[in-house]
Amino acid sequence: MDNQFLIVGQGIAGSLLAYDMYKAGHKFKIVSSPDENMASDVATRRYNPAIFDKLAKHWKVDELLPVMTNLYRDIENELGHQFLHPVDFTQALSENEIRVWNERIFDGDFSDYMESADTSWIKRGIDNFSLFDRVEKSGYLDLAKLLSELKQFFKENGNLIEANFKYQDIGFINGHITWRGVSAKTIVFCEGHHATKNPYFKSIPFIPTKGELIEIECEKLAEDYIIDENLFVMPMGNSRFKVGASYDYSKQNGKTVLDTRTNLLSRLDRLISLPYKIISHWSGIRPAVSDRRPVLGVHPNNQHIAVFNGLGTKGVILAPYFAREMMCSLVNKNYILDKEIDIHRFLN
Ligand SMILES: Cc1cc2nc3c(=O)[nH]c(=O)nc-3n(C[C@H](O)[C@H](O)[C@H](O)COP(=O)(O)OP(=O)(O)OC[C@H]3O[C@@H](n4cnc5c(N)ncnc54)[C@H](O)[C@@H]3O)c2cc1C
Repeated sequence: MDNQFLIVGQGIAGSLLAYDMYKAGHKFKIVSSPDENMASDVATRRYNPAIFDKLAKHWKVDELLPVMTNLYRDIENELGHQFLHPVDFTQALSENEIRVWNERIFDGDFSDYMESADTSWIKRGIDNFSLFDRVEKSGYLDLAKLLSELKQFFKENGNLIEANFKYQDIGFINGHITWRGVSAKTIVFCEGHHATKNPYFKSIPFIPTKGELIEIECEKLAEDYIIDENLFVMPMGNSRFKVGASYDYSKQNGKTVLDTRTNLLSRLDRLISLPYKIISHWSGIRPAVSDRRPVLGVHPNNQHIAVFNGLGTKGVILAPYFAREMMCSLVNKNYILDKEIDIHRFLN
């Protein structure tokens, strides 16, 4: 029997879509290349229901967060590993910001996530600031571990083909797409920033955004919260911390750059006053779109081709909810996607 779906890419987008298909009992294959640079590779990822610069809530967070938590917990139960780690976030506030923050806390719309600004919980190593806020229902996902466990799971179930996908190998025969002997009703491209080369989705205005991260070891820095102050400092256990990230719209290669590292470290030195050791330095490319929203749906001129991309800087919190939306639009032709994320906003 034919596959219903062929997914290209096993980053967070392709993996969560594939997991939803597995749960719904659909027949599918994933083709993904272990050689391609993927944004999801850069290890651990934060999720935060607040936007600190604006002292506001994240877009759609009331809908995104429950779907996110349920899906990752479900995968944890299925695979027998923990991936999601709740940790509070904090940020230094000016006198002015603290007033706005304190108003927000008593606003029913925000109170679920924001806690009163309280200096007492800020501990060792952060001496240059005096007032801090606190965001709850935040934390991090061990994305590298999640993807490697899902890879193994899909391999064992016969769903994963490790290969480099080339567009010229696609065929269209009798209402099916074919690729190297695999046939499916619909091909779903989840290629991350590689989608800039996709001939079927040329009019999506991708803005691939390079980012770099550093891992440090700092014995005395407190490990009970993630600091997000101009850059983030995220505890990983055993006195290890991830520090980042940079944003570079001009370069689209996966190489780390010494200048970026120097810049991250000088920002870190303004934040913490403790000695640390640099352990490693990574880079990756975020698949962002000009309007900073995900992009998904079936191609308006070819019902056998679909896309799920544009997770940008927020793959952890966006991917679970929009993988579900993607599934709905794949299995139900009449399903109406939200205009903000629908592929139709770029293609008619
Ligand atoms: C430095 C940095 C820090 C970040 N921090 C955070 C954070 O804290 N929180 C957060 O939520 N997000 C963060 N992000 C963003 C997050 O990583 C992305 O939103 C997410 O990983 C995008 O996932 P994706 O599946 O769309 O793309 P990718 O992870 O890039 O996956 C694409 C997949 O497609 C495959 N592929 C592509 N082309 C081909 C081909 N021709 N043949 C075969 N396979 C192919 C690749 O091998 C890969 O498996 C960060 C990104 C970077 C770079």
